[in-house]
Amino acid sequence: MRDATKAILHPAINEDGYAALTVPTHRASTIVFTNAQSYAKRGQRDLDNYSYGMHGTPTQRVLEAQLTALENGQRTVIVPSGQAAIAIVMLSVLQTGDHVLIAETAYPPAIGFCKNFLAPRGISYSTYAPGIGADIEAQITDQTRLIWMESPGSTTMEVEDVPAIVKVAKKHGILTGIDNTWATPLLFKPLDHGVDFSMQALTKYPSGHSDVLMGSVTVNDLGLRKNLRDQMRMLGMHTAPDAISLVLRGLETMALRVAHSGRIAGDIVTKIAARGDCEVLYPGLASSPGHDIWKRDFNGASGLFSVVLPTAWDARLDDALNALEVFSIGASWGGTHSLMAPMTVKEHRSATHPRNDCTILRISIGLEDPADIRADLDAFFNRISRT
Ligand SMILES: *Cc1c(COP(=O)(O)O)cnc(C)c1O
Repeated sequence: MRDATKAILHPAINEDGYAALTVPTHRASTIVFTNAQSYAKRGQRDLDNYSYGMHGTPTQRVLEAQLTALENGQRTVIVPSGQAAIAIVMLSVLQTGDHVLIAETAYPPAIGFCKNFLAPRGISYSTYAPGIGADIEAQITDQTRLIWMESPGSTTMEVEDVPAIVKVAKKHGILTGIDNTWATPLLFKPLDHGVDFSMQALTKYPSGHSDVLMGSVTVNDLGLRKNLRDQMRMLGMHTAPDAISLVLRGLETMALRVAHSGRIAGDIVTKIAARGDCEVLYPGLASSPGHDIWKRDFNGASGLFSVVLPTAWDARLDDALNALEVFSIGASWGGTHSLMAPMTVKEHRSATHPRNDCTILRISIGLEDPADIRADLDAFFNRISRT
């Protein structure tokens, strides 16, 4: 062999005696085959095997298997973002003429996908109000194929009666999916309650450091997994092994981070609620919508909650946000940095409620020293509530 060839062909080395606690980052577009016969039969390889880098390398299989175990499921697919995970579930179920029922408290871009992508292609949708439970039956049509839940709901944090909704769906032969990003499978396991698709934005707690976007969907049914993978293949969806390795790293500390943020958030919401001048939305609080269901179905609460700001405070909101020292102003939560994001929900709510006219401040508790977090919050509330 000449030098140019030697520089390209990697020599086989001895890996005997090598073991590490870390998962290797296997990057590949091309998958090579040991002989011509196995190449010719590559199309018969099952979905857990390897045929092309787009469909995953061993690095991705490790993350899939780890999430599958956490979710008590059978198989997991990995996609490039949480939004892609929502989209791929809907695309894998819905055909032209079908209908999807989606919670009006769902992550707003999920409703945006129904409105701006599915509806123009002949797939209709309607939203249902939080706390609906078994009454969802009245909103089912002959065309309904999927019910999409999110619990607790985005921003307003209503906990849904998932078992009641699943029971109605099963009676009508309708599939169910849920956005489980707030709880992660550590605090709620949707598949144990009969949900067909458990989706999470790995962008949040699993990655945990605000530096990667990714999503996952876990199922118990291999047929549903095949439909998901078929759609992913048609769309050319691929998730980079380097990004996956960051999520594998984040996952190792997720239980500690979620438990810590949940504990600090629990202390803080009690203190804010005790002020008596603003409503706090957090499943762990007895006054928060769906608290009893949360107690029945969840193993705890994570570090994200919302505070409904009295309208009299609106004029001072920007100044109070700008003066924050520990908190940053931003939306994508679940990382090490504490965050605040002012939100409004009116556009997405069917029923009237006084809080729909208010700014709702979403707060994510990070891993800074809790004393510094509390001091920054105290200063914030002093500034904004000043009369
Ligand atoms: C962030 C988020 C998503 C979307 O995740 P991305 O990775 O940012 O696309 C979906 N659902 C919920 C509840 C989220 O908070």
